[in-house]
Amino acid sequence: MVVGQGLAGSSLALHLAWAGRSVLVVDQPARNQSSSVAAGLFNPVTGKLLSKTWRADELFPYTFEFYQRAERTIGATFFHPQPIYRPFLSIEEQNQWMSAGPEWQPYLERVSSTSTFDGQVYDPYGGMILKSCGYVDVNRFVRGTREWFGARESFVEDFVDDVQPMDEGVQWKNIRAKRVIFCTGCALPPVLSFLPVRPLKGETLTVKFAERPNLIYNRAVYAVPADPLYKIGATYQPTKWVPGITAEGRHELEEKLKSFIKIPFDVIDQQWGLRPASPDRRPLLGAHPRHSRLLIFNGLGTKGVSLAPYFGRQMALFLEGSGQIEDLVNINRFKALYSKFE
Ligand SMILES: Cc1cc2nc3c(=O)[nH]c(=O)nc-3n(C[C@H](O)[C@H](O)[C@H](O)COP(=O)(O)OP(=O)(O)OC[C@H]3O[C@@H](n4cnc5c(N)ncnc54)[C@H](O)[C@@H]3O)c2cc1C
Repeated sequence: MVVGQGLAGSSLALHLAWAGRSVLVVDQPARNQSSSVAAGLFNPVTGKLLSKTWRADELFPYTFEFYQRAERTIGATFFHPQPIYRPFLSIEEQNQWMSAGPEWQPYLERVSSTSTFDGQVYDPYGGMILKSCGYVDVNRFVRGTREWFGARESFVEDFVDDVQPMDEGVQWKNIRAKRVIFCTGCALPPVLSFLPVRPLKGETLTVKFAERPNLIYNRAVYAVPADPLYKIGATYQPTKWVPGITAEGRHELEEKLKSFIKIPFDVIDQQWGLRPASPDRRPLLGAHPRHSRLLIFNGLGTKGVSLAPYFGRQMALFLEGSGQIEDLVNINRFKALYSKFE
């Protein structure tokens, strides 16, 4: 039984179904769940210092494989590989990337020292076009997965607030499951609440551009297609956040957008959500220290689109008994918190 069906639950449930397992997915949709507001961008070169994102060489090939297979299974289109254009901020940045080594070859389509999209963005130092990137229409993926399981009578819309672990299984209402895997994002069930899932608030804008951007543009903020509109994101508020959209969030995104995109735009909408992050920014996978039939797949933080496929497969292989959860993402690393909690 998979509880919670955002990116994490969808990926895990599909992997289990592909392995021929009988899966029941239970989800109670909530407003502002992370997956429903995500812009869906996946980008192997991130951060102010433009470094290769964690485990990119393993994660990104599987991101392509997974969503393409999911599209065939579900019979819907939601995976959109597309180049990203990243203007350089300085001559130093330009020099650094003009001499990028062969390890960048899978991700660099073109590096240019002169302005390439001058009509649409401010790029006096040129910029780079990245490949192996794009976006997932996360809402369509989650909805399609839900409908696919629903058509097989394997989806229940409900809130799971009490499960009873027993020797030979887990009981929830009149359902008996071998194992329950909680993929509930920021809403941890009480039994797993010793784990440090930290809500990281984010806001996005939906805008209408006066003309269509040539590529996905990304510098400090991104502009990702949400046909026919664009999603601009995102803010990061790890502490002192209040629920809801804010004037500060809108101002920050609008200013950052205007600082590099020349195309006039109108703001159509604004959203907010909570990313389920962990203190070390690594996913959280594993079994409860006491109840081995209660498990968790969480902690996808800011990169759910590229982490969910790879670690959903790792979790499924572990449940099948044919793979291990690696130490870096295993919840065992927080075992000390459980002793305090007991
Ligand atoms: C503003 C914003 C922009 C983002 N943009 C991107 C992006 O461009 N690219 C990217 O890779 N990532 C992005 N992310 C991050 C990404 O959204 C998350 O990493 C990912 O969605 C987390 O998925 P999840 O399945 O773990 O959690 P969630 O999406 O929160 O899903 C959990 C589900 O479980 C349900 N649930 C909870 N408790 C229960 C219960 N007891 N019983 C039944 N159901 C329950 C919830 O209602 C929900 O449906 C963004 C996030 C935000 C907030």
